[in-house]
Amino acid sequence: MDARLEAIRNTVLARNPGEDEFHQAVTEVFESLGPVHDRHPEFLEGAVLERLCEPERQIIFRVPWTDDAGRVQINRGFRVEFNSALGPYKGGLRFHPSVYLGIVKFLGFEQIFKNALTGMPIGGGKGGADFDPRGRSDAEIMRFCQSFMTELYRHIGEYTDVPAGDIGVGGREIGYLFGQYKRITNRYESGVLTGKGISWGGSLVRPEATGYGTVIFTEEMLKTRGQSFDGQRVVVSGSGNVAINAIAKAQSLGAVVVACSDSSGYIVDEAGLNVALLRQIKEVERGRLKDYAVRRSAVAYVEGGSVWDVDATVALPCATQNELGGEAAARLVRNGLIAVGEGANMPSTRHAIAVFQDAGLLFGPGKAANAGGVATSALEMQQNATRDSWSFEYTEQRLTEIMVGIHRRCETTADEYGAPGNYVLGANVAGFVKVADAMLAQGLI
Ligand code: NDP
Repeated sequence: MDARLEAIRNTVLARNPGEDEFHQAVTEVFESLGPVHDRHPEFLEGAVLERLCEPERQIIFRVPWTDDAGRVQINRGFRVEFNSALGPYKGGLRFHPSVYLGIVKFLGFEQIFKNALTGMPIGGGKGGADFDPRGRSDAEIMRFCQSFMTELYRHIGEYTDVPAGDIGVGGREIGYLFGQYKRITNRYESGVLTGKGISWGGSLVRPEATGYGTVIFTEEMLKTRGQSFDGQRVVVSGSGNVAINAIAKAQSLGAVVVACSDSSGYIVDEAGLNVALLRQIKEVERGRLKDYAVRRSAVAYVEGGSVWDVDATVALPCATQNELGGEAAARLVRNGLIAVGEGANMPSTRHAIAVFQDAGLLFGPGKAANAGGVATSALEMQQNATRDSWSFEYTEQRLTEIMVGIHRRCETTADEYGAPGNYVLGANVAGFVKVADAMLAQGLI
């Protein structure tokens, strides 16, 4: 890392102790930015990096609710409004027991650059709670969401901060959150949340957008080497919103997706995963992946194992941060991996990324590859602002154009900085320069 940037990075780490994921995200971005500061000394003079690493606002709040047995439960809620240089804070809410400030800050920090890359007018933010939705009834989920919004509502708004979903927050949760916002404010403010239902202000393609976009970005990477998804053997981690839609899109392009996972284990279906059955089990029944193996013949279910033990030519990590480590990466590379597209945020460890880059394979980092979700959220905001709703075909076409544009931006930036094919550098530099220019133009705030 450039010595000037390393000194700033060390200060950031010291100011934010114990936030390992945030440290990792900051370090990864800083490693790309040395050459940018050679060309743009004004960024150092304006202390852009120091300002970028300090969120504009951090909100931590108590979320009290009662479970079905009438017991009082207390969770911790977060919203980190990281950077508004390009537009209102925008980023999802995560409900998972592992959530703490370090995770929310890593996600919010990444979101700044991702949102800049989309070319849409959105700043970066993220939030969530250490609430575990698994095994909770609909009524418990609703009471939790209502309590969460009872505090959050005062901090968000169409022109301020626009949350959406992430792990543990899908259409059901956005519905309860929106309902409570409307009830408290007495305003039908569609643009305050994205990921809404189609009949009440949502956008077609939003549910599919992150997974579809990841595959579109990866296809663009493959094209640069005269390849495509057609005939690839694909492994996907996770079986949530991003994973299932990535599987569907990859299969529509001719890939055979043989494996996916949840936090209990993984399944291998050599004939190619049956997306309709996956959707039935995960989205309709809210069941576990092992049910898939019970209902379909010739499927292996491996309890507790890592899906990255399954060989693939293309890997799409779509579950969670740091799920793909260096050893797994090295094994995949030895066994024929040619491309990785990150549907999740920071799923590959720094060691794994180094393995992929040393091997010279195509590696699409999450902040570029999974930006289709937030980009389509911005399209939802556009539709809300004009009280319009677009067709599936038109919205999907917009998503495709955006993903192709992000790929091109990463590719040309990497070329411009003498690192052809390095999408990590391309994404970090292109996103950063856009935000840094806007911050300097807006003065010291
Ligand atoms: P979902 O909650 O729909 O699905 C998450 C999936 O990942 C589930 O299969 C879950 O398994 C698995 N998972 C979660 N945590 C772990 C863990 N600690 N270990 C192993 N498996 C785990 O979330 P999404 O699909 O929305 O999000 C997946 C990833 O994509 C996240 O990194 C998110 O930040 C990122 N992302 C999401 C976007 C979106 O639009 N939703 C946009 C951009 C990025 P289980 O059910 O067993 O918990």
